[in-house]
Amino acid sequence: MKIETTSDQALGYPAEVMGWGRYPRSHSNVLPIFSPREAERALQQRVGLTLLGRGQGRAYGDAASNSGNVCLDFTPSDRFLGFDAKRGLLHAEAGVTLEQILNEFIPRGWFLPVTPGTKYPTLGGCVACDVHGKNHLSISNYLERLHMLLADGSYVTCSPKEKPDLFWATTGGMGLTGLILSVELRLQPIESSYLRYEGIKANNLEEIFRLFEESETCPMTVAWIDCLAQGRTLGRSIMMRGEFARKADLKTSARRRQALAVSHNPKLIVPINFPAMSLNRFTVAAFNAVYFGKHPKRVEAIMDYDSFFYPLDSVLQWNLIYGKPGMVQYQFLIPSKHSFEGIKTLLEAISATGKASFLAVLKKFGPMKPQGPISFPVPGYFLALDFPVGNGEILKHMERWDELVLKFGGRIYLAKDANLRAETFRAMYPRLDEWLQVKKKYDPNNVFVSDMARRLGLLSPGGAVPKMKKSKLGTRGK
Ligand SMILES: Cc1cc2nc3c(=O)[nH]c(=O)nc-3n(C[C@H](O)[C@H](O)[C@H](O)COP(=O)(O)OP(=O)(O)OC[C@H]3O[C@@H](n4cnc5c(N)ncnc54)[C@H](O)[C@@H]3O)c2cc1C
Repeated sequence: MKIETTSDQALGYPAEVMGWGRYPRSHSNVLPIFSPREAERALQQRVGLTLLGRGQGRAYGDAASNSGNVCLDFTPSDRFLGFDAKRGLLHAEAGVTLEQILNEFIPRGWFLPVTPGTKYPTLGGCVACDVHGKNHLSISNYLERLHMLLADGSYVTCSPKEKPDLFWATTGGMGLTGLILSVELRLQPIESSYLRYEGIKANNLEEIFRLFEESETCPMTVAWIDCLAQGRTLGRSIMMRGEFARKADLKTSARRRQALAVSHNPKLIVPINFPAMSLNRFTVAAFNAVYFGKHPKRVEAIMDYDSFFYPLDSVLQWNLIYGKPGMVQYQFLIPSKHSFEGIKTLLEAISATGKASFLAVLKKFGPMKPQGPISFPVPGYFLALDFPVGNGEILKHMERWDELVLKFGGRIYLAKDANLRAETFRAMYPRLDEWLQVKKKYDPNNVFVSDMARRLGLLSPGGAVPKMKKSKLGTRGK
């Protein structure tokens, strides 16, 4: 499908666009952005089409899709613009990937202050999602300034002090407040790129919650959880704790000499779509039983950062194992007051449906300052589970789980979402109106729109929204 501007020239090239889950899929024009001037030109030439900044497409659902309109692909904007070695302050273009930062700055003794479970996303995408990792705060806590291009064509800088409303609405604002051109990020100093790792088995939900409470002072914690366990073993898990190793912690002198090594672990690749049947309750149950059974009660190790932070990256294109219909991630958070009861209820409900998640992660967020109005992290526990879309039955289950999450005052993470309803989303994010006012102030005519924005009502109140054009593959659920 060709999407024309009213001038003869099409803005970008037509492409099928999707997130990491490969569900839903849509068609839009994709325009590679090599410089801020090109983004400015797109604003001038869009003639009625809406625009959306896009990174590496690692958000799972429709956050980075803009059906029948234009996605501005920032991946070519990938230059480092400056580094203050005294403060560890990096200034980089929005399309720089986390991997690029690691490769360049680990040898100089610096690491990302926060990293999601993959190193392939762009900095701009991570800011727009306000990503979190194994430590306790999200990336917005480590940002010095954002440099943006707004809907009216103006270039602005925002920070917690300058235009704080724009800054906080942009961190977690899913690309809908303006285009992020470059980011100033405070890196953290490290003596080595290795982690002191501790893995501890928990036989049920009570035990893993106790372990999280006892690990408050540990810089990084996360747990793998067996989402199929029921009854006495409901919530059996493996707690993974870690902190950066000091040089003296490294046992051999060879390793100490290479303390700031960049990992180049071998990668496997999934070459084709797997048959949708390959991941089911039985294969997942078998894997879980072996994984949990073989894990020692407690284990300590020195681990390279790739193995600790990015185990999923060791298999490239692993999203293809979910088959052609794609996959969805269900990531929900239950605030501290009701965390235990909420997580228990949801685990029981999910297990009762017989739907199995190969990947299942439990994590606690501790005390933190208030984040952006629609940022995901608040104190509490979250659980993230991946499911094949298959025949679409899972989507109906998710709607029922949404009601339970809501009952416990919880919320769904937008970077993983493809299915939430607008009214449920509104009930989950009580500061939505505050965000909408900022959207109205900086983008009153809805220049920046995504499929997620249309679905969830993340649009300027009273602003025009051009209809999305029908595309051949754009039908949800296909
Ligand atoms: C294996 C895996 C593990 C993950 N683990 C985690 C995790 O632990 N924690 C976590 O928080 N997330 C996690 N994620 C999600 C992922 O890290 C985030 O969604 C990330 O932000 C995606 O970055 P991207 O460059 O791919 O952005 P995209 O997916 O392309 O876009 C994401 C959003 O950012 C906006 N955007 C992108 N670039 C710009 C720009 N220049 N200007 C304005 N808006 C822009 C888009 O409009 C969209 O709304 C994981 C994803 C995968 C695939």
